[in-house]
Amino acid sequence: MSADKAEAPVDVQADVQVDAQDTFMHGPPQAEAGAVLTVDLAAVAGNWRRLRQIANPADCAAVIKGDGYGCGLEPVAAQLHRAGCTTFFVADLSEARRARTVVPEAVIYVLNGLPPGAGHVFAEHQLQPVIGSVAELAEWDAFCATSGWQGGFALHVDTGMNRLGVSVGEAVSIAERLASDSHGMSLLVSHLVDAENPASARNNEQLLAFREVRRLFRGVPASLSNSSGIFLGRSAVCDLVRPGVALYGLNPTPGHANPMQRVVTLRARILLVRDIETGQTVGYNATWTARHPSRVAIVGIGYADGYLRAASADDNKPGGMAVVGGQRCPIVGRISMDLMAIDVTDVPKASARRGGPVTLIGEGIELEEVAERAGTIGYEILTRLGHRYARVYRT
Ligand SMILES: *Cc1c(COP(=O)(O)O)cnc(C)c1O
Repeated sequence: MSADKAEAPVDVQADVQVDAQDTFMHGPPQAEAGAVLTVDLAAVAGNWRRLRQIANPADCAAVIKGDGYGCGLEPVAAQLHRAGCTTFFVADLSEARRARTVVPEAVIYVLNGLPPGAGHVFAEHQLQPVIGSVAELAEWDAFCATSGWQGGFALHVDTGMNRLGVSVGEAVSIAERLASDSHGMSLLVSHLVDAENPASARNNEQLLAFREVRRLFRGVPASLSNSSGIFLGRSAVCDLVRPGVALYGLNPTPGHANPMQRVVTLRARILLVRDIETGQTVGYNATWTARHPSRVAIVGIGYADGYLRAASADDNKPGGMAVVGGQRCPIVGRISMDLMAIDVTDVPKASARRGGPVTLIGEGIELEEVAERAGTIGYEILTRLGHRYARVYRT
């Protein structure tokens, strides 16, 4: 092999170019970015169909808050809409406006409800607040009365989360009041505290409480389950399910095989490889020391890209993992803002070389593992996926 060839930059996403018709790009060009994030939108749609089938005959919405769990709100919403999804949940009005531009006909619920004085924004973009307190409902009623707006809303009843939602007692008096005038209430919502733990007694407590609340609002569709809730059985499914994280490939049934398809892959390019002598340290604060002569690959991803600094490795504690040349390799030293170091001592030089690919999510490294090694949950890894990556969307 000539020296020239050994240094040729590797296209870390070569397989994407082949079926370029089914892909589109976002962010910086691949050749200029430190890494390429691939988002498989076809898998998101496949996951949604799967969840809809499990929840059948209930309807299946999609939760696209947090910028579509970091995957991109607009591309995710557009793909799911094409797959047949007609109801979306976002966190706030700015996300709702973004969603409205790509799904002009869909029902969009705003989970964080009505900000003071913002009624007209709901009317302007045909959005529905998920009302979470008596004060909010009073303001919504007043807005509807003065504006004549009848676009509907969801009522969130708290059954144990103690976050958003009116109490069960408050729901009783609301129901009495609404008996004379239904107010265009389109959905009754509650949220499970511990759905990912099927053995938790909380689930049944909340199910029973929600059943009582549903009796108060006969004829109004009801929605209780997030991703994991869908797997708790018929009584948790109600009329509409609200999966979020499972759409993006995280396992909604921890401890069992993941029924979802992988969505996200993260691959970087090696900037350089250096030799480290025994006793030398790598990175800020000299927290990792080479115990034998080592080779270390430097990669252009850091905590500014959402790769959490908590996944750093020191002399006493392992951190995150990467795959180089088909082999699992540990991150060494502190993860810095824009860089990390990977121990490639055992990888052949043909793979561990400038321009060579490094996989940080994918090739057997699941989001769950990335999260665990950073001391957090997959949700946080997803929602922090950076915006310096070249993004490749597969449809
Ligand atoms: C975020 C959220 C969901 C989706 O939860 P996942 O665990 O991601 O499926 C559903 N309902 C409400 C009220 C939420 O806040």
